[in-house]
Amino acid sequence: NADAAMYLAKERGRNNFQFFDHGLSARYSERLELENRLRHALDEKQLELFYQPQVDTLSGELIGMEALIRWRQPDGSMVPPDKFIPIAEESGLIVPIGAWVLQEACRQVQSWLREGICRVPVGVNLSARQFDDAGLLDTIKSALSSVNLPPAYLDLELTESLVMRNPEHTRSILAECKKIGLQLSVDDFGTGYSSLANLKRFPIDRLKIDRSFIKDIVTEADDAAIAQTIVAMAHTLRLEVIAEGVETEAQLALLRRWRCDAYQGYLCSRPLCAADMTQMLRSLRASRMVSLAPI
Ligand code: C2E
Ligand code: MG
Ligand code: MG
Ligand code: MG
Repeated sequence: NADAAMYLAKERGRNNFQFFDHGLSARYSERLELENRLRHALDEKQLELFYQPQVDTLSGELIGMEALIRWRQPDGSMVPPDKFIPIAEESGLIVPIGAWVLQEACRQVQSWLREGICRVPVGVNLSARQFDDAGLLDTIKSALSSVNLPPAYLDLELTESLVMRNPEHTRSILAECKKIGLQLSVDDFGTGYSSLANLKRFPIDRLKIDRSFIKDIVTEADDAAIAQTIVAMAHTLRLEVIAEGVETEAQLALLRRWRCDAYQGYLCSRPLCAADMTQMLRSLRASRMVSLAPI
């Protein structure tokens, strides 16, 4: 069919194959099968959100968390987002899936708020395709209002390339988001081609430094210089900075020295299922590590 031909042509272009390749058609049917199963994942309640804490580098307080989607298979195994988000994006399924993510993250945070164990925002990742959907703002507003969640508890994570792809369109949507009272973060900062000065023309609150820049800050002087410079420049522009993928105490020590505001990473915790996150919030609350001042 036409889709298959297109896919094969694309792959061929990439690999410069001149002949029919059985590996390619096998990969295509695998992808098609995944897409078909993904189509039912929402109805079958196979999608789930995990939550990863974000922590103040100096005080150790919880300052936020990020919602990360998981796809639970009938056999109990999990498909990581890198395996199915691209398929969801290409097929357009990301629009209903993304709407579910917004709804579910708002519902969960509101339930933690009501229990009195959480007063921090939740970060939700947005894809370009969602951003191009004319219904995005209504989707966000109804996710918030259906559970009566104050907008400041929702932190939208957008990548640099999403922001820069269509600057005028993006600027007007982001302005609307700020008018509603949402928080805005730039995700995976450093992996795109934009400059901080460019980004500053958008009403964003935070930068998340991509984990590839954090990975070797302890051993590579150049990586350390880049990360330290990003922190300093972001602060000059009055943006908050959070480091992604922090795994060791040595990395955290450097980030503290540079006054990076917060971090997220295995050092504090892997992403947790909602039940485990609830346990963590309850024990943080008990040890007063959660700020209970309303935002
Ligand atoms: P991201 O938004 O940059 O999320 C951070 C990723 O880094 C997560 O991977 C997280 O598990 C991982 N991570 C956190 N700390 C560490 C660490 O210390 N070391 C290492 N090696 N990794 C760490 P995950 O959950 O597999 O998600 C991957 C990507 O999938 C996300 O990157 C995001 O771009 C996308 N994604 C996840 N959930 C959603 C969603 O609901 N919607 C959309 N559109 N994309 C999503
Ligand atoms: Mg993210
Ligand atoms: Mg990221
Ligand atoms: Mg990423």
